[in-house]
Amino acid sequence: MYKTVHLKKGKEESLGRFHPWVFSGAIHHIDGTPEEGDVVRVVSADGRFLAVGHIQIGSIAVRVLSFEDITIDKSFWQQRLAAAYDVRKSIFPQWKNQKSEIGNQNSNPTNAFRLVHGEGDGLPGLVIDVYDRTAVMQAHSVGMHVSRREIADALAEVLDGIVDNIYYKSETTLAYKASEDGGNGFLKGGLATASDIAVENGLKFHVDWLGGQKTGFFVDQRENRALLERYSQGRKVLNMFCYTGGFSFYAMRGGAELVHSVDSSSRAIDITRANVELNFPGDARHEAYAEDAFKYLDRMGDQYDLIILDPPAFAKHKDALRNALMGYRKLNAKAFEKIRPGGILFTFSCSQVVTKDNFRTAVFTAAAMSGRRVRILHQLTQPADHPVSIYHPEGEYLKGLVLYVE
Ligand code: SAH
Repeated sequence: MYKTVHLKKGKEESLGRFHPWVFSGAIHHIDGTPEEGDVVRVVSADGRFLAVGHIQIGSIAVRVLSFEDITIDKSFWQQRLAAAYDVRKSIFPQWKNQKSEIGNQNSNPTNAFRLVHGEGDGLPGLVIDVYDRTAVMQAHSVGMHVSRREIADALAEVLDGIVDNIYYKSETTLAYKASEDGGNGFLKGGLATASDIAVENGLKFHVDWLGGQKTGFFVDQRENRALLERYSQGRKVLNMFCYTGGFSFYAMRGGAELVHSVDSSSRAIDITRANVELNFPGDARHEAYAEDAFKYLDRMGDQYDLIILDPPAFAKHKDALRNALMGYRKLNAKAFEKIRPGGILFTFSCSQVVTKDNFRTAVFTAAAMSGRRVRILHQLTQPADHPVSIYHPEGEYLKGLVLYVE
């Protein structure tokens, strides 16, 4: 039987609205001493059952797995993963049976997508991205880490015939726990069967799941990259914070005159070069630089008329919000200062704690500081395979603006 977490009086309200987190301040007491990552039952001050979820030390004390009084076992994981898969089949109707190939009827196939998006799929703390025949699984909570083998077993059944390999990658999200028992590694299959090349809208890229960030690629920018392609014809493009070059190869296919990719990580720059080579061998339009963004923006000239700014999350916690907003303002101000008249700026924030309004205000302030006339052409967000639970609006983390700068 699961140990019980008793809430303080009146603190059951948000669970009543299906918000999937219990903050530590809402807890009155816990029966016994559960281990981090254990499943617990949450009850109201008057003993009424509310939810079951994973407990963890920290401000989010319980991440809810179910609002029903159930046992979390392999069949639970199977049901949730199958439900997530069903949603993806609705999103990608072209998805052919037994083939992880989605997208525009063969001519521009995609086989990289998100299967599980944490709270958006009723699985707080879990992310699973699929790259061709390999699923990369990432735990953001101790409970998901503890359950990883059971989840992998369920996943292998749900994606039978679609995926052969399951790679677990949580050293960056749960450094301490992951290193305690073996770290990153394959839970199913292995390097012999896993190709590290995936395809997005017909463009190939190496997925650096062994050493890369997140699950190895940022699938969340897929549609925004496709939009960028449409704006690239004849333009001089700066892809700032390029990681492995996602936006760069779309710009090249879109007919850009030149594309410069910049990232502070030299490993990312090496993979960017390899990815460009994979799609456009010997194409002299592309150059890549391993350099700090602010240094590059300071020293660069004013040749660019299409700039992408896709920085890492500047604020990972609420207390860092003020500094983060200052960071976005400074960064965007530099782009407004130097972009050519008639230029297009794709600017993003992926910090969950930065709201759409926060981000806009930061960008507006930067625009005003530069004195340029700026119009919003598009307002961007994450694609449908990163769904947002309506009860957990915090799940909408990616915000982007496409701006026309006179
Ligand atoms: N646009 C990318 C994802 C960007 S992730 C894509 O479409 O795939 C953010 C990137 O910013 C990471 O690759 C990280 O290495 C890089 N980065 C972090 N701090 C930086 C800095 N100060 N200067 C330049 N790059 C930085």
